[in-house]
Amino acid sequence: CASSSVSIPPPRCLLGPLEAPLRYMFGPGPSNVPPRILAAGGRPIIGHMHEEMFEIMDDIKQGIQYAFQTQNNMTIAASGSGHTAMECALFNCVEPGEPVLVAINGIWGERVAEIARRIGADVKTLVKTPGGYFTNEEIEQALAKHKPVLFFLTHGESSAGLVHPMDGIGDLCRKHNCLFLVDSVASLGGASLFMDKQNIDILYTGSQKALNGPPGTAPVSFNDRVHVVNYPVVSKSELLGCWGGYHHTGPVSGFFALRESLAILAEMGLENSWKLHKEVAEYLHEGLEGLGLKLFVQDKNLRLPCVTTIAIPVGYNWREITQYVMKHHRMEITGGLGPSVGMVLRVGLMGYNCSKTNADKVLVALGDALKHCHKSKV
Ligand code: PMP
Repeated sequence: CASSSVSIPPPRCLLGPLEAPLRYMFGPGPSNVPPRILAAGGRPIIGHMHEEMFEIMDDIKQGIQYAFQTQNNMTIAASGSGHTAMECALFNCVEPGEPVLVAINGIWGERVAEIARRIGADVKTLVKTPGGYFTNEEIEQALAKHKPVLFFLTHGESSAGLVHPMDGIGDLCRKHNCLFLVDSVASLGGASLFMDKQNIDILYTGSQKALNGPPGTAPVSFNDRVHVVNYPVVSKSELLGCWGGYHHTGPVSGFFALRESLAILAEMGLENSWKLHKEVAEYLHEGLEGLGLKLFVQDKNLRLPCVTTIAIPVGYNWREITQYVMKHHRMEITGGLGPSVGMVLRVGLMGYNCSKTNADKVLVALGDALKHCHKSKV
């Protein structure tokens, strides 16, 4: 028998079938992907530089312009997750040594502050505990004090379940000659946002939440002010390379799927989508209160319709609840993330998943978990 030239054998695990069970993805993301989007992602590959692909990328650009409510030409889908778009935004707007102001009221501001520090920026923070928000007065005072080149704010704070008020902040940033960068990964399509009208200079999102795409593509848009305020030329030409010359091999299947996600949003209409998310969230909230649970964000107007945070019920271990629901209901709901770990349970009903029927499924599963999970005598 011929001796093998390879010393590392094929892994046994790969000789068995792929196990990817059907689950109710009712956590903060990714969400379930509807058959139409799955089918689009499963179409045969074409080249990333083929004529049809440029057309698809242009459809995507127009879809993002609609979803963001912007006319910005520099509107693309980055190859990667929400973090990729976050990094792309920071690397293109911030130079080492420049002051950057980051609003932190959950994990996403923390992440942005960390990336900006690694770029070498002089990072200043405005901090609230999860569930808190920033008044325009607080923001303006900090802008005046720190004179940042960029201010970052999370629109939908998925770790806290908070949707941040947006009006007037972009104007303050203009007044103080600073760029306004907004994270809408967990809010796009579920809560109203108007990039151009609200003077947001850079906006990004992800494919896997209310857009119901598979994870891995991230819409991002820059307006013309980004050129004005210290725009690094190399990065800019790299970005522009996406249109003209060769840049990189984009995730073709992911772009097929994203095109379909954006098509579904265009067919439904943004306003209908916002309305649906609000209605279903309110229905879910009533049901949760009916189970004796308390919502983490007190002010109804500040509750993020896409991701609901529930205060962990007294006496329960949150891990037992999420594990119970997964085991007995095949349903993902999660605990907190970053600073909200141990504070909340999180339920997300986004896009395709956003229905009263699914809210009822969550209520049944949580009601069952409350009955069966161990309750300590604290
Ligand atoms: N920002 C927010 C508000 C998010 O909810 C998430 C994902 N949970 C991210 C950024 C990061 O996105 P990704 O996990 O796709 O990198």
